[in-house]
Amino acid sequence: MQKKQNNNSLSFSESVNRMVDRAISAIGLDPGVANAIKTCQTLVQVKFPVQIRDKIEIFTGWRAVHSTHRLPAKGGIRYAPIVNQDEVEALAALMTYKCAIVDVPFGGSKGGLVIDPSKYTRDELQTITRRFARELIRRGVLSPATNVPAPDMGTGEREMAWIADTYKHLHPEDINYAACVTGKPVAHGGIRGRVEATGRGVVYCMREFFRHPNDIKSAGLDGGLGGKRIVLQGLGNVGYHTGVLLDEEDEAKIVAIIEKDGALINENGLPVEKVRQYITENKTIKGFPDATYVKDGKRVLEMECDILIPAAMEAQITKENAENIKTKLIIEAANGPITFEADEILRKKPITILPDAFVNAGGVTVSYFEWIRNLSHIRFGRMEKRFDELRGQHMITAIESLTQQSAPDWIRDEIIRGADELDLVRSGLDDTMRLAYREISAARNENVKIKDFRTAAYVVAINKIARSYLDIGVY
Ligand code: GLU
Repeated sequence: MQKKQNNNSLSFSESVNRMVDRAISAIGLDPGVANAIKTCQTLVQVKFPVQIRDKIEIFTGWRAVHSTHRLPAKGGIRYAPIVNQDEVEALAALMTYKCAIVDVPFGGSKGGLVIDPSKYTRDELQTITRRFARELIRRGVLSPATNVPAPDMGTGEREMAWIADTYKHLHPEDINYAACVTGKPVAHGGIRGRVEATGRGVVYCMREFFRHPNDIKSAGLDGGLGGKRIVLQGLGNVGYHTGVLLDEEDEAKIVAIIEKDGALINENGLPVEKVRQYITENKTIKGFPDATYVKDGKRVLEMECDILIPAAMEAQITKENAENIKTKLIIEAANGPITFEADEILRKKPITILPDAFVNAGGVTVSYFEWIRNLSHIRFGRMEKRFDELRGQHMITAIESLTQQSAPDWIRDEIIRGADELDLVRSGLDDTMRLAYREISAARNENVKIKDFRTAAYVVAINKIARSYLDIGVY
């Protein structure tokens, strides 16, 4: 079933495939291998009844496994009233490319459940989630070795804890049960820094972009991230953490925030933390002080700015509004915010796009760290933190006795401090995003047929995936 987005538009999965086709033709990949890479391998659909208050409701969900050239297959589970099979398949494909781009050794998968979580109580959601998890486990698409879900839109730590607990009860003999899902609360085997990981990854990727003078220049920009005028769409998990980090650490100006029920504009910059607090308290963005409210939020995507960050849903920039986009740089923090047709229009404009499969890969990168933590059954840094601190202490003592001077407190603190789990997660994430950016940027510069970052990113991904098919053959 290929659901079309709207009149004569490509479906989400067709849109992803068409973008991937550009990379396939740029490297002249064998059509057989190309098809093997593009095909979604497994699709499980489940329908299950749950008694909600006095009546029985039937829920529909999917788990798509796009690729298994690496195992486990990895990807979030989305809870949304409009989720559909094509969307889940498209998102699973994006997971395949995403993992390859950032060298996370996983295949690609994605799940979805048709549900409006706001209509159910916590207990009801727990019953539904546990039942959904049992259905997925029974069908072989949820286990530490083969298929590992994570949070996505509409799900978070709480749902992941329920899923892990359900798996544990069904497989108490599996010593690695905690690795059956990532994005768990820290007290239940989660890793520090996972909740903010996607947003932080987005910011690391932006910082890396601004370390490449040629890329900055080709985007028609200059200078660094500081002072840039940014329009941010979505204050969910990804948009919120991206916005807070940009706002607090990079002195970039978030001049507009777009949410479901409208947008806020303030040329002097919007305080992301306060806006989010306002939304939590008032259930709307409307009425936030010191900002102009615009009812038709989507129009604000068309506002003139340096950087546009769509961090909400897929298909926000389509052939209907692409012509009006006036930014210089688009950072795709959401999955699939630009349709293929819109991308074709934007390519003809002086607009640089850093693509989703790279930009938002921070989430799955830290999921990978969590999975490894679960398999090793030990928190990162636990063995070496104090040892490193002692070594730092000895170093300071040696320097002070040799120079007969005492080190300033801040230098002493920096040298003595051993890395804890959060330090290591952030350092691993930063390194991952930087290396991936460099690979993509190099691919773009090396091949004259590649002009844009999206095609370059897919070339990087496809070369790696094709290698693994060609090395072992297709059986
Ligand atoms: N749902 C997130 C994504 O789209 C995270 C996936 C994961 O951590 O497995 O990338």
